Amino acid sequence: MLRQVADGVLAHQSEFLQSNAVVVQGAAGVLLIDAGVTADEMLCLANDLSDSDLTVVAGFSTHPHWDHLLWHASLGSAPRYGTARCVATVRDRLSGPDVKARLAAVIPADVVDQVPTDLLGRISGLPTETTEIPWDGPSIRIIEHQAHAPGHAALLIDESRVLVAGDMLSDVLIPMLDANAADPIEDYLRALRLVEGVAGAVDFVVPGHGAIAGPDQVQERIDQDRAYVAALRDAKVVSDGRIGPSAKRARHRT
Ligand SMILES: [Zn+2]
Repeated sequence: MLRQVADGVLAHQSEFLQSNAVVVQGAAGVLLIDAGVTADEMLCLANDLSDSDLTVVAGFSTHPHWDHLLWHASLGSAPRYGTARCVATVRDRLSGPDVKARLAAVIPADVVDQVPTDLLGRISGLPTETTEIPWDGPSIRIIEHQAHAPGHAALLIDESRVLVAGDMLSDVLIPMLDANAADPIEDYLRALRLVEGVAGAVDFVVPGHGAIAGPDQVQERIDQDRAYVAALRDAKVVSDGRIGPSAKRARHRT
């Protein structure tokens, strides 16, 4: 079921790790960010949209992890985008033999049969200097950074004061660093500074997984992520309420 986040912005939450798909209303249709996880849920989303006479005119993936790259035929064949670096990473990971088997190995066993991978990762890279999503709708700023995954992008919908945070600023998942990066901790802290730089323009944060943060929780989410990453950097004992079964499960994702 779609729920309203703010004017012109709706979200659809999956049972899988509380994954949020975000719908932004434009002039001729909607932009769909991180479409969803299971076939049934994406079909349900497609039905909700068509019941409201809305068609998907563009898609966007916040980062190159499988649960943010999915799509279902019922959502149509609109162009789907990611940052250039995100797309380069996807191409690299989806090349070579046994792609299906490699994908099946990273998707948790309890959902793998429900996840349609045929249209996974069919995204085009936006040129590196792109600052906004190219579409006929409210302006959406692309805040690219390298925390969590290469070419990760948070999206700021200025008019609605909504930040779509990708896999940052979650209330259920601890910050997960990009283990392949040269300096993942500094990348993450730099990304948090970027996000904090626009926090004054944000009333709602929609994380890739978890609950939507309201106006009085935006800074708290940033501070919570920063405290965790700084503790890792300083090799302090990390105490964070988000560490638990869901975090353990998330660690298996790539
Ligand atoms: Zn991720």
